[in-house]
Amino acid sequence: MISLGAWRRNAAITLLLFLSTVAGPAGVGHASDWPGGQMTLEDAAKAFDDAALRIDTAPATELARWTTPIFLAVSDHAGMNAYAGEVEAAVRAMAAIAGVTVNRVAWQDPRANFVVRPNTSEYAGKSPCRSSVDWTDAGLMMRAEIHVNLANPGRITRCINHEVMHGFGFRGHPHSSFSVLSYKYAAQAQLTDTDRVILQTLYDPRLQPGMRTPAASQVACSIIAEKLHSQPADAAAACGHRGAVAARRGTLAFSGSRLADEPAHPPSLQPGYRDGGM
Ligand SMILES: [Zn+2]
Repeated sequence: MISLGAWRRNAAITLLLFLSTVAGPAGVGHASDWPGGQMTLEDAAKAFDDAALRIDTAPATELARWTTPIFLAVSDHAGMNAYAGEVEAAVRAMAAIAGVTVNRVAWQDPRANFVVRPNTSEYAGKSPCRSSVDWTDAGLMMRAEIHVNLANPGRITRCINHEVMHGFGFRGHPHSSFSVLSYKYAAQAQLTDTDRVILQTLYDPRLQPGMRTPAASQVACSIIAEKLHSQPADAAAACGHRGAVAARRGTLAFSGSRLADEPAHPPSLQPGYRDGGM
């Protein structure tokens, strides 16, 4: 139940992510306890790879995350007012874990780079809970745009947390892990322990935006091993092989002029920038 496009547009990359509103096969409603017992290093490292180092189902080329403050704008649409506080709290909670500054700005503020708006209509037959995420091939997050499905109030909290996670640079879905990003745990509305660990890890200074995925996978695994107090032998077993895994796609798809040498600056939001992305 996902549909997306990933393509280059003005040297940035846009990803569309749709959140299924159909209950998955094994919905779990617990708060943050790993349903099968304690979180394992192997699973958390896989969750990181699946969430941060994939573009939906394809291997990503590089790690992407925010390096600039988030300017959060929530639509002043009447139906959105009841959820604006929850949206802001979700963004601030994740930003606190990530160490990213959040500034709430007015709707239509030109600085807005993290935009949340309502959606009450179906979009091409897909779930109207969705997001689009723009990043450069230097791994700099430039913009997140989230559409919250107000027509499904029972799912709004999950919609917000799921899509805001995408907005922090998780472009994939760790389906097999107990994560708000997983479709398997389709009833999970709140961040899980796994989500907090992978979010901390994505923003750990030992990882860098634009880092190639094989190296990022290995470094991330070692960071997670440290967080979980894994034994050295377990860390070696789980992490040692990860750097050998090469991305199979992306070099050609994402080749072209790079923004790596350009200074970080507000996203270029010239008309048409995201025309194909909605
Ligand atoms: Zn998603």
